[in-house]
Amino acid sequence: MIMVKYCTESLLLKQEGNLKAFTVVNDEVIYYNFITIDNFMQVIRILFVMIVARSLAITATSQQENIGVSKKKDGKMIKVYSIENKGYVELEKINKSNEEWRKILTPEQFEVTRHEATECAFTGHFLNNHEKGVYRCVCCGNDLFVSDAKFESGTGWPSFFQPVAGENIILKTDKSLFMIRTEVLCSRCGAHLGHVFEDGPKPTGLRFCINSVALKFEKIE
Ligand SMILES: [Zn+2]
Repeated sequence: MIMVKYCTESLLLKQEGNLKAFTVVNDEVIYYNFITIDNFMQVIRILFVMIVARSLAITATSQQENIGVSKKKDGKMIKVYSIENKGYVELEKINKSNEEWRKILTPEQFEVTRHEATECAFTGHFLNNHEKGVYRCVCCGNDLFVSDAKFESGTGWPSFFQPVAGENIILKTDKSLFMIRTEVLCSRCGAHLGHVFEDGPKPTGLRFCINSVALKFEKIE
């Protein structure tokens, strides 16, 4: 068997003196038989079959994409805990340019989450929120904190003693403002959320000091 021509999804093979064309659809090889290739009409037939095979392959590919089977996402996947699913899920990481973030965030949300700004103390809309529910990232919707972990720190910012899960946040050393602090970021989109300090209540002894503007809240009964 000698391969004599390659054409994207279709291939021609010479087998025992005869030519065969085949295409690969869904990992299955589909063959098209020919008798000989010693006249012009045979060449026309080969070209015709190759065009049909190619369109079959394109149709199969678009059908797979429609039902979401084989299309691999380009983005990097991360594992985070989902309150709704009561377990870990795989989500695509969100990478947007500042230009794209500006279009979907308010100026205040943009400055805090993408430029590490801090909202003024005692001004945040979730500071005195005592409803039961989940606090999500305002940029990407990643679950970050639950109301059961919220406590009154008296600092002027919503405070939590633990995140939903360690996988849902990223901790990073922050040496700005002549201090060494630990910055808290969303693990899915990299949004700046606030800082964590080691003066929190039991059981963790941590205080996640978070900007209200970096959060959105969903009430859960
Ligand atoms: Zn996020």
